[in-house]
Amino acid sequence: MERVILTGDRPSGKLHLGHYVGSLKTRVALQEDENTNMFVMIADQQALTDNADNPQKVKESVMEVALDYLAVGLDPEKTTLFIQSQIPQLPELTVYLLNLVTVSRLQRNPTVKAEIQQKGFNESVPAGFFVYPVSQAADITAFKATHVPVGDDQKPMVEQTREVARDFNRIYGEEVLVEPSIMLPPQGQGRLVGIDGKGKMSKSLNNGIYLSDSADDIQKKVMSMYTDPNHIRVEDPGQVEGNVVFTYLDVFDDDKAKVQELKDHYQRGGLGDVKLKRYLNDVLQAKLQPIRERREYYAQDKGAVLAMLKEGSEKAEAVAAQTLSEVKQAMGINYY
Ligand code: ATP
Ligand code: MG
Repeated sequence: MERVILTGDRPSGKLHLGHYVGSLKTRVALQEDENTNMFVMIADQQALTDNADNPQKVKESVMEVALDYLAVGLDPEKTTLFIQSQIPQLPELTVYLLNLVTVSRLQRNPTVKAEIQQKGFNESVPAGFFVYPVSQAADITAFKATHVPVGDDQKPMVEQTREVARDFNRIYGEEVLVEPSIMLPPQGQGRLVGIDGKGKMSKSLNNGIYLSDSADDIQKKVMSMYTDPNHIRVEDPGQVEGNVVFTYLDVFDDDKAKVQELKDHYQRGGLGDVKLKRYLNDVLQAKLQPIRERREYYAQDKGAVLAMLKEGSEKAEAVAAQTLSEVKQAMGINYY
């Protein structure tokens, strides 16, 4: 059976190595699967739920994210790339699904709870933000996605989508909506730590290496990376665990034997941080240079990128329109 995948990102900045490891790499691999039909959505409406005062930032980020997608190798010939706000059927479906979800169920959603705290909304949570899990359920079900690849922070969203789809089908007596399965990243590969070693790489924590960073930026960031604070002199034995340089080497260096050799040397003593960081810098530069060059190539013709997004959005709209027509028929609100 064909596997349908819906995935995407909120455009509120550029994408970083955390996004690359956490989702972009998987998507690029998935698009090569003959049995997979993948939709990648730039979720500008969702980005507006916590950026209502800054639509310009969202608008600019739509282009940045599209460039990041093309740069890592998402191919519009194989994958439908589209902009959420250009598909009117998505908010339309959201309205119907909202009636199937209680306020208390939304209040219990752990991801929303955590984000409300993190964003410091307190009592003034925008209603649109509060209900975004339902909008996400609409995005997923409008495409009849069978699979949703997400990081584990997004697990509650897919669970809520499954509930909503099940309730819809139970109440309206038809198998119209599809309950999607969650696709989690392999154990231990879920989250890339930031260059400060304090937590996950994240835009708002300012600890990221971006796909669009210049060679110079990358080098500066690598040289400032958190290592082992007790490794002071070159001859001191150093610690590998929690050492961000080694974490990145584990993730990005394909030469695993070399990484093991460096770890052994570092632990024995005699391998300095500067030398080690220079090595990681070479590894990251080699990974990111072709991505950056492709990005610069596409950035020269933003008109062509917009035309590609328009075409993708038209394709996506046709699919969502078909689902909406089935939804309305099941609900009996097809009048004429
Ligand atoms: P913000 O600081 O605004 O929350 P962010 O950098 O954390 O931004 P998001 O847009 O919140 O990025 O991330 C979207 C999705 O990308 C997450 O749900 C997660 O699946 C993935 N992701 C983000 N950061 C990482 C990371 N460091 N490692 C792996 N995956 C990540
Ligand atoms: Mg985040």
